[in-house]
Amino acid sequence: MKGFEHLEQELQDMKDAGTFRELVPIESDQAEKVTIDGRELIQLSSNNYLGLTTHPRLKLAAVKAVEKYGAGTGSVRTIAGTFNMHNDFEKKLAEFKHTEATLVLQSGFTANQAVLASILSKEDVVISDELNHASIIDGIRLTKADRKIYKHVDMKSLEEALQTSGDYRSRLVVTDGVFSMDGNIAPLPEIVELCEKYDAIIMVDDAHASGVLGRNGRGTVDHFDLNGRVHIQVGTLSKAVGVLGGYIASTQAVRDYLIQKGRPFLFSTSHPPAVTAACSEAIDVLLEEPELIERLWDNTNYLKKGLKKLGFDTGKSETPITPVIVGDERKSHEFSDKLREYGVFAQGIAFPTVAKGQARVRTIVTAEHSRKTLDEALKAFQKAGKELHIIK
Ligand code: PMP
Repeated sequence: MKGFEHLEQELQDMKDAGTFRELVPIESDQAEKVTIDGRELIQLSSNNYLGLTTHPRLKLAAVKAVEKYGAGTGSVRTIAGTFNMHNDFEKKLAEFKHTEATLVLQSGFTANQAVLASILSKEDVVISDELNHASIIDGIRLTKADRKIYKHVDMKSLEEALQTSGDYRSRLVVTDGVFSMDGNIAPLPEIVELCEKYDAIIMVDDAHASGVLGRNGRGTVDHFDLNGRVHIQVGTLSKAVGVLGGYIASTQAVRDYLIQKGRPFLFSTSHPPAVTAACSEAIDVLLEEPELIERLWDNTNYLKKGLKKLGFDTGKSETPITPVIVGDERKSHEFSDKLREYGVFAQGIAFPTVAKGQARVRTIVTAEHSRKTLDEALKAFQKAGKELHIIK
């Protein structure tokens, strides 16, 4: 298109560099194996940690909600799009999270944007881990507050940033609970101690810890027994919870403030009834079927151990996200392609999602994988890894 020649050139450059991404359509439901291009592949790329996307209780709740309330809500929450079920679900979620209140947004992405862009002003400063998720980075871009970036999980670097932030009205420290590309857990107890020492507000993005860490999947704050000491928890309903959405768990005042000022909340239509009903059912499933989380962790340990034994570099992962670090960008995509040839769907991830030279294939196990399937996956990793000289 005339005027867009530079975009076409950029796309060509990506293709030449082997970093251009194609969307991969799935032809089945989201299970331990998925159908892609007519072939059944072991799914090691989804965030469906507990298999809840297809849980019969969630499906039934969604169907019933559609039948009773219809397919959509027809309005933003603040005008005519708040149904009883939205408020009821937020109360249930607050009880689950042991916080005063919660507010649900369309996605985890918009939840981070809503908080960071609205609760901070030019008198404030936000202090962020350098490897925080893109939605935090974009939220920070939208705020008028000053910003400081500390080195990844480096408490010395965080303390330096806090020491030089005494003149601001408020200091907000924000971290991912679980880092999405490496699967490591933030050192939350140390972060909390520093924030208490310097009187700073703490915000944790628990997208990959919601439904995964803590009692019944309450997240990293519960995992570290820090309930009541972290001011703002952002979570997602789109990954382990199996549906869609993001939430902010905090005080009633934060909830009320976001309803007045959180732009993605104010200006975007509320969740369809099926989404809210399925999310609500998912919380009950987390409470009533803890064996799902146990199975997730058993599978996590099994796959991680297997990959390490084969000689792969799995970085510093401590969670169901296990990267297999390859380094070279093109090679990580070749590795992913070869795995696919051998029956495994595990996507290659390269710059800019991870640093240059840190390209990888990222694996995520779920509670749904059987041992037999994980053994098949490990065999495929071994074969592909040897052929590409990633392992001996
Ligand atoms: N935060 C982190 C750390 C994430 O990994 C993601 C999802 N990629 C999000 C926020 C956004 O969550 P959602 O998919 O619900 O928008």
